[in-house]
Amino acid sequence: MTTATQQTVRSLMLIDGKAVESSDGRFIDIENPSNRTVIAQVPRGTDADVDQAVRAAARALEEWKRVTPKDRGRMLLRIADLVEAETESLARTVALETGNAIRTQARPEVKSTADVIRYYGGLTGETKGETVPLGEHVLSYTRREPIGVVGGIVPWNAPVVLGTLKIAMSIAAGNTLVLKAAEDAPLGLLRIAEMCNEHLPPGVLNLLTGYGEETGAALARHPLVRKLSFTGSTEVGKLIMHAAADRIVPVSLELGGKSPAIVFPDVDEQRTVDGVITGMRVTRQGQSCTAGSRLFLHTSIFESFVNKLTTTLQKFTIGDPLDEATDMGAIINRKQFDRVCGYITDGLQQKGARVAIGGLPPKEGPLASGYFVQPTVFADVSNDWRIAREEIFGPVMVAIPWDDEREAIRMANDSHYGLAAYVWTRDITKAINTAHAIESGWVQINQGLGQFPGQSYGGYKQSGMGREYSLEGMLDSYTQRKSVTINLQW
Ligand code: NAD
Repeated sequence: MTTATQQTVRSLMLIDGKAVESSDGRFIDIENPSNRTVIAQVPRGTDADVDQAVRAAARALEEWKRVTPKDRGRMLLRIADLVEAETESLARTVALETGNAIRTQARPEVKSTADVIRYYGGLTGETKGETVPLGEHVLSYTRREPIGVVGGIVPWNAPVVLGTLKIAMSIAAGNTLVLKAAEDAPLGLLRIAEMCNEHLPPGVLNLLTGYGEETGAALARHPLVRKLSFTGSTEVGKLIMHAAADRIVPVSLELGGKSPAIVFPDVDEQRTVDGVITGMRVTRQGQSCTAGSRLFLHTSIFESFVNKLTTTLQKFTIGDPLDEATDMGAIINRKQFDRVCGYITDGLQQKGARVAIGGLPPKEGPLASGYFVQPTVFADVSNDWRIAREEIFGPVMVAIPWDDEREAIRMANDSHYGLAAYVWTRDITKAINTAHAIESGWVQINQGLGQFPGQSYGGYKQSGMGREYSLEGMLDSYTQRKSVTINLQW
């Protein structure tokens, strides 16, 4: 990795409406994972920075909660316009910091970011309550009030849309927010925060950068944070839940996954191969919580399906994320790259392991200059191997044969995760019965798409708790109900 120079661009945090360095002046280098060069530096947020940001958010709340829903919505809609107008430069930033290809990933991510803000901008008036029929002489009604200062923490794999989702839900519901960006990919989100700052009062949104164990942990335990909203690994999610338990604050967790894709023998194989590849998020190097990485194939189509999958994946162009011809970019950082390679090595060592495509990355040639891993498919895998059980978060799929559909469902559910699932068949009865039997928060039949604003999204089991992306998700997770009961005979 090249080191930062005097000219390296420094992006600053946003606290109380001002762009600031960290209290001790330390910075973190941000690397372009496709060529390992330092592209910018961001502040390494300290406990004092977290405290300042949370106090600013708590002060801003007093005025902010009195702003009408209509005005909050208007501000969000203006921010969406700013994001949309800057789609290209934001997409470029996201491609550079994440290594995600601009055409297949970074640009679509920024476009969906504007959609998410607009969706919540139109829903602010839905934070309404109900009246309760307690009798002619009693008026009882409920109000949905903001919870207070939200502490949000997000990962690097889709940094702009995941961060903006928390901003939009918090702001629409009348909360203020301190958000911590991921240390590997904070630049796009910092730019979004600047745009928000053009329309929101100071302190309503504060954006911190820094390491998880430092800035993130300090935010999770801050006594003035009244709600925690975390997206990231199940391991860190457990720490966040402990921090929430210590102070009895509500917590939303969007965590990891190891999602099954069950393919029945009646499918159009090539169309299904294309859908399975989309569901696996191969163009995001498999770095997606919803990646359909466990492929359960009926034995009668196993070989021909794996062959078609291999032939299709061979055509993927891997390389420079900024090149419009690139389908697939680089893994985020050295640590993840080593981790993914570790899983591939583990798979190769299993008795009977068969690599249909991919394997360990080349040590020489153009792809060796960045953290590139080819799409890798292991065939004839047993559901109890590590590569079939643990979240790899890389472009590695396992193909597991099945004969009896009850056995396929049993294997699909034999996981501590339960985020997404994919069912592929032309038989609608089998499709629906399978979807109902799978223990996952989201089952897609004959498609493998990403989240849609308006549809609740979240995990079963250790994939998380709470829902996002929808009106109900915002109401349940970002407001609290108050009942007011009035005696009319008094
Ligand atoms: P991670 O859990 O390592 O980090 C996520 C965030 O938490 C980062 O901002 C990090 O700085 C922070 N963090 C780390 N340690 C912390 C601590 N001790 N206290 C407070 N904050 C801490 O995850 P990652 O590697 O950035 O992202 C990959 C993981 O995220 C995968 O497991 C993936 O499945 C999951 N993910 C889930 C969803 C979802 O919607 N369910 C979406 C995207 C990613």
